[in-house]
Amino acid sequence: MTAFRRERADVLAELRALRDADAPTHGGRVLSYVYDSGLAELDELAAEAARLVQPVNGLDPTTFTSVAVMESQVLGFAREIFHGDDEVVGSVTSGGTESCLLAVKGAREAWRAARAGTPRTPRLVAPVTVHAAFQKAAAYFGLALDLVPVDPATGAVSPAAIEERLGDDVALVVVSAPSYPFATLDPVADVAAITAARGIRLHVDACIGGFALAFRSDEEPPLAPWDFRVPGVTTLSADLHKYGYAPKGVSVLLTRGRDLHRRQYFATTKWPGYPVVNPTMTGSKPAGPLAAAWAIIEALGVDGFRDLAGRAARATGVLRDAVEGIEGLRVVGSPVGPLLAVATDEGLPPERRVDPHHWADAARGLGWHLQLQPGLAQDDGAPLPRTTHLTVTPVTERVLDDLVPALRAAADEVRGAPPADGALLLVELAGGPEAAAGLAASAEGLDADGAALLLASFGLLGGNAPDGPEQGAASGALPERLAPVLALVEALPAELAERLLVELLARVVEPVAPSGRS
Ligand SMILES: *Cc1c(COP(=O)(O)O)cnc(C)c1O
Repeated sequence: MTAFRRERADVLAELRALRDADAPTHGGRVLSYVYDSGLAELDELAAEAARLVQPVNGLDPTTFTSVAVMESQVLGFAREIFHGDDEVVGSVTSGGTESCLLAVKGAREAWRAARAGTPRTPRLVAPVTVHAAFQKAAAYFGLALDLVPVDPATGAVSPAAIEERLGDDVALVVVSAPSYPFATLDPVADVAAITAARGIRLHVDACIGGFALAFRSDEEPPLAPWDFRVPGVTTLSADLHKYGYAPKGVSVLLTRGRDLHRRQYFATTKWPGYPVVNPTMTGSKPAGPLAAAWAIIEALGVDGFRDLAGRAARATGVLRDAVEGIEGLRVVGSPVGPLLAVATDEGLPPERRVDPHHWADAARGLGWHLQLQPGLAQDDGAPLPRTTHLTVTPVTERVLDDLVPALRAAADEVRGAPPADGALLLVELAGGPEAAAGLAASAEGLDADGAALLLASFGLLGGNAPDGPEQGAASGALPERLAPVLALVEALPAELAERLLVELLARVVEPVAPSGRS
């Protein structure tokens, strides 16, 4: 008999203790990352479904036929709610990023196939608000990335601005329904008319909003069509682990046309092992998230989804009105779906303004986690404001009576406080303007220890600095106030900020000895 080193109860108790230190995943206190339906029985169903398929390898749906049945039914549900006809097929992926990556990969292969032997680099055109997953896709798959500025007041892109960028090297245009940063619904039909006329493929990224927007109630103002009702839309991504309420690890990528879909696959028979046919980026893969999503779809059906989407929409409306009613803050543009971004009301004198990042920090002090988004310089010189993001879920409706007063109190706490000035902070941290300039130029050639020392000098890497007193994951916790951190991210050259953030995240997972070792 195999001897266990530790008792089951002991191991699980330790894990529970670790989980207690996490940000709360339920109850609506965290307004990003987590999507709480507020239905405990739905979570239990999902967990039980995932457990049933725990040993299954989703790699081979001909060996594990349950995977094929669940996947084709999940895709059938998605195709129906996103108004695809029988030319629309798809794949279940591990998440929004993988759906986006595959959409780009498929478009690149199709673009190349039509231009056999071309040495040219394909280009991806999208509004600057497009999810970072497309920056990743361009980097991974070797496409030039062409980001189109948006109107800083509304977050909206003009179809004409996209049209200006189009050419024969464009493999894919991407629009969002809606965008993550500002919840803007891009002009899908107008862009589709332009791309279709040129034979350019168009992806709609409905990763965050898809499973909410598809279930809008008749009481809400109707939206312009944004899914497969629009003829020029060739692919669409929507995440089941967001407003599909499934555990992390499941999304769908729908594709118009079987030939384009097949270009997302990877297959090889040129090795001495089993023939490889992968629809997605992974090889062996869990079936748990798929089974959970399938069970949730079976249990909720269209009516259940509509009810939950309605709760999130109502809560979003209340929050939007509440924020608009807070002196010094404004909601950016016309958010669509259960999310919104909040910026400073620049129409007011500085002493009456509320910096959205100080506001988020103050809200965190009151137990509410909002997400800070940095300001961004655009190519055309029109800067996008720094904002704070709120993702609203069905459970939010139940906590509005606590949340709204907290948002007001947080604003009262920081009204008039000047925004954190990253450039100034950098000079302070570096010990003078020249040192700061030198530091800003230092991204190139920065090695892991150099980056860690820099982070430590910024006060962002306590015990995990090289030769620090304590090496361990727990010391990777976030600083109490994030506004100065985001201000630094804004002020540093992007390459340096990115390198430092990589270091920060990597230091959090420095290997340490397992627990309970005797
Ligand atoms: C969340 C999101 C993604 C990426 O999805 P992940 O599931 O985090 O990988 C892509 N696009 C949009 C609009 C999103 O909100």
